[in-house]
Formats: sequence, C-alpha cells, structure tokens
Amino acid sequence: MCGIVGYIGKKDAVQVLVDGLKKLEYRGYDSAGIAVYGGKNENKRNTCTGNNIVVVKCKGRLDSLQEKIKNSIIRGNMGIGHTRWATHGEPNDVNSHPHVSHSSKIAVVHNGIIENYTELKEFLESEGFEFVSDTDTEVIANLIEYFYKYYHKEEITNAVVNSLKLLEGTYALGIMCEDFPDRFIVARKGSPLVIGLGENENFAASDIPAILAHTRNTYILDDDEVALIKQDQVIVYDGFGNEVKKEVFKVDWDITATEKSGYEHFMIKEICEEPEALRNIINSRIKDGEIVAGDLSIIENEAARVNKIFIVACGTAYHAGLVGKQVIETLAKIPVEISIASEFRYQDPIISPGDLVIVISQSGETIYTLFALREAKRAGARVLSIVNTVGSSIARESDNVLYTLAEPEIAIASTKAYNNQLAALYIVALAFAMKRRTVNDRAALEIMEEIKRIPELVAEVLNHREEVQKFAARHYNSKSVFFIGRGLDYALSVEGSLKLKEISYIHSEAYAGGELKHGTIALIEEGTLVVACVTQNYLKDKIMSNIKEVKARGTLVLAVTQSRFTCEVSRTADIVITIPDMNQLLVPMVAITPLQLLAYYFAVQKGCDVDKPRNLAKSVTVE
Ligand code: GLU
Repeated sequence: MCGIVGYIGKKDAVQVLVDGLKKLEYRGYDSAGIAVYGGKNENKRNTCTGNNIVVVKCKGRLDSLQEKIKNSIIRGNMGIGHTRWATHGEPNDVNSHPHVSHSSKIAVVHNGIIENYTELKEFLESEGFEFVSDTDTEVIANLIEYFYKYYHKEEITNAVVNSLKLLEGTYALGIMCEDFPDRFIVARKGSPLVIGLGENENFAASDIPAILAHTRNTYILDDDEVALIKQDQVIVYDGFGNEVKKEVFKVDWDITATEKSGYEHFMIKEICEEPEALRNIINSRIKDGEIVAGDLSIIENEAARVNKIFIVACGTAYHAGLVGKQVIETLAKIPVEISIASEFRYQDPIISPGDLVIVISQSGETIYTLFALREAKRAGARVLSIVNTVGSSIARESDNVLYTLAEPEIAIASTKAYNNQLAALYIVALAFAMKRRTVNDRAALEIMEEIKRIPELVAEVLNHREEVQKFAARHYNSKSVFFIGRGLDYALSVEGSLKLKEISYIHSEAYAGGELKHGTIALIEEGTLVVACVTQNYLKDKIMSNIKEVKARGTLVLAVTQSRFTCEVSRTADIVITIPDMNQLLVPMVAITPLQLLAYYFAVQKGCDVDKPRNLAKSVTVE
C-alpha cells in the first residue's frame, strides 16, 4: 500500500525516483508525486516549495505524473517520491504527496495513518500554520517545521525526532528540508522502509524492487528508527536519538523476478511460476524422507507440548489458513482456531502460554497480522510466521519463521504465494504429526512422496490452461458467479471466488455446498454460473447432490475434479476441468491453479487492469 522512494547521489534524481515508483506500482495507488532539491522555484504553494525544493504531483497513474514532469522545471540529485493510496481525503492533486509545510521549508512523503492528526492540526492552526489539504500527512510537515523554527533552528534531525514523539498511528516517512541540500531523512513505525546503500549514492524505499537496479546492500529499518541519509553516509538513530549500528542485509533475488519476462501480465507469469516456487519450498523442507525443521525450534522442541493452535491472517493468506486448519487437525490432531487478523485482537482471544499462533502474510508487512502477532506475544503464546518477504516486520518479530520461498510476487492478486503458503502449512502439519506420532512412519513417508509430486501435477494443469481460456472467452460476461465445495473444497472455493472478484470485478460468492439452500439459493437463476469443486471422495456424493440442486434451477455448472471422477461428474456438470489423480488431502495445492486461471482469463477478456485492480493494494499497511 503506497510507495516511497528517496535518492541522493550524482544521478538524475527525477529518473531514479520515477523508475523506483514504477517498481512499486504493484503495491496499489491512486496518485503520485516527487519533490527534488534543485531546479527553479515557480513560487506556488503546494506545487513548489521555497527556493530550492520543487514538487510535482497529481492524481492518477505514473504516466500522468511523467507528463506533468515534462512540463515542469524539476531536476536535481536528491529527492523523495510517493505513490499514494488515499486514506484521508479523496485522491486529487492537492491531497497527493509530497506535502510541504506552511512556509515551504519541509517536504514530506508518508505511508500510514496519523490517528491524532485532528488535535495536532488544531494546535498548529492556533500557532498560525495554514493547511491546504485534507490529509493527515500535512500535519507532519507542519509539526516538523514548528519544532525546527522554534527549537532546533540548526538541526533538522532533532526537529524530526521530536515531532515523531507526538505522532500516534503508523508511518513510513521521507523528509527533506530546504536548508539541507546534502541530506534527506526517513523514519518508520509500523510501515515498511528499507535503505539502499550505494557507492557515493544512497536510497530509501518501501520495498526492495524499487532499489534493486542500483544496489543489493540494504539496511532494513526497525520501528521507531530514524535515518539521516547523505550521499556518502547513512546514520541510523533509535527513537531516543542514539546512534544504532545496523547490519547490512544483502538481497539475493534474481532481478528478473520483478520483470514480466515476455508474459503479458505479472499474474500469468506468477501462475506459471507455481511449479518452480513449490519446488523451492518443498525441496528445501523435505529431504531423504525427513522434514527439515532444524531452524524451527517450535516444531523441533515444542511440538509435543502445543495444546492449541491459532491461525491468523487476512485475505488470501486467511484462505490458506482455512486449508491449514483442516490439514493440521487431520494430521496432527491439534485443535485449530482460525481468525481474520483484523478481528483477532478485538476479540479478546483466549490464549494460554502453551498455545501456538501461526500468522500468515505474503508481504510480512500486513498491519493487522503484525498487530495480531504482537497481541499473541503479549499473551505469552509462541509465534510461527509463514512469510514470503525475507527480513519483513512479521518475520523479524516472530519466534520462528518459515519462509515460503515463492520469490517476489508483483501482481496484486496473490497466486504462487498462496500455493506456497499451503505447502508451508502442509509441512508444518506433517512435522507436528510426526513429532506427536499421530501418523505412523509409513503414512508420513507416503505423504512426503506425494507432496514431492505436487510441482509436476501443477505443471500438468498449466499445460492444459487453454481449456480454461476457451471457457472464459465464452462466459466472461457472467454477472454473478457462485463457487461451491465441501470440506477442503469449500476452503478452495472461497479463494477461487476472491480471485475472481479481485481482478474481474464480477460479483461472486463462495458457499459450503450444503449451506446454499439456507438462503443464497434464492439468488440463483437461469444461466447463473456455478463453479463446483469436486475433489474429495468422501464428500463427492454430497456435493453432487448440491450440483443437481443448482442445475435444477437452470444454472451453468463448471466442475473442477480429479481425473478419476471425471466420468461421473460430467454426467451432471456442463463443463469439467480435470486435475490429475492424487491424495485428496493435498488437492488444494493443485486444484487452486485452474481457479486462478479462470479469474485471470475472465479479467483479461473483460479488459481489466489485471495486475493492478482498482482500489486494491498489494500489502495492506494501514488499519
Ligand atoms: N494517510 C495518508 C494520506 O491519505 C497516506 C496514505 C498512504 O499510505 O498512501 O494521504
């Protein structure tokens, strides 16, 4: 959600900032802007600051910003840039970032929400500060100016540190001051920020892809830290102003992970990468008939003692958790409670010290999940996180982290990261089951061998993707799509339905097959599309009855089923998409792929912006 980029060095800052922001587009945004030290003053409030800092910003995509940059005098070697995802004030030119302070000395970009901005604004207004935007962010620029003018006339860092003490809420900030051409300042609390270390140049960004073209050496900023960034020096302070020695984190991704490499969209590229991504996690965790979990002390030493597990996550990761709950209960016989992260801490959850909380997040920065993690730790639980982004806040604050190794995921709608979250949950479930002896060695070995086969099975599904494409070409105009399934197929349906909604904007609902007739079937009419998941042998007859119920009301039914059920299912369903035969407990890792493809091809047919669906952000970093 929102992107921040900062640069100081010898290069053209405008280019570095715009290129960096392009790499952060996947996070979702509605407006963009940059502030650069240098250039000429047009002397227009909120277009341009005092004498030395020029601001260009506007509502809309980066193309509009680039157009505006072409018609402005903005150049220099230091600057800050921003893509905004509006929380306070509609997306328009004035509310776009950077925001400048009353006398135009300070320019600020901000990700997050300042919860006490109304009180601060009232105070600053009483001190004569005028505001031009509806944002919470403008308060920060003015507060820094207030401290700078009245207390720290010669030192901007102290003015920033003092201002931060008054802010309630979350932020990642990039700050420039007109009196300091040789530095910019960044700070974080609750929203991600990394610093890129170059040779005679330095960078800051919300996420690594923005700086990867320039450097692989980074500092990952912790909460409450403030960094002073100069061309040849970066100094990091803690919340009290004491200098902190940071360790360099070396990024080892392949840069092609952040490029489309010939695919039309990141989403289809990432779906096609699923076999490889699954191989990464499976081969690193299952070796020679054993689960490799030496780094996971919770599994290695505490498996026998865990009484109860909570799974906490949002969106797609929550849907992975729905599968995880069933799999852990089936294999390890530990009761699992699952919660939506944004609800978790307000539910006053009954957590005991022997409990384990598993949090799941692709970005590792999902704010609700991070807060839930902290709540769990306060209550004395141990926390195991399942995270894709190395070094992210959730990864760093958990007791143990199981990385999903899916490589960066750029499309906003999560695909390969979901499959790998599932793989991680199966590995956890099996590791617990083996330690607790709830499955015997032979059964465990069989499951491990079957898991090893999953990447090939997904590849087989992908080889037949044109069947899904053809179906989408005929039915993408559907007004409403219902997904039904039972047991694990229900968990799968919920994710399939979300994917479709997210990127094609088609109304969709997912129901446990038996639940449909308790109300929702009233919405079903002649021609409604129903997607039925039929992969669980023990529930097959039940879901087949549900399919007959909707067929009797004139629906069109697309069924996703295992090869061995195809004959039977095709007697009732109109179209059948077949996945290879496999152990039914492991099906979700394979059967989700046709549903992701379905959403993708529907959205492409409808001409939607597949990788950047409206109103959505990749990582939700505000409450
Ligand atoms: N709360 C700020 C605004 O609405 C920042 C939003 C963001 O994170 O992009 O402008």
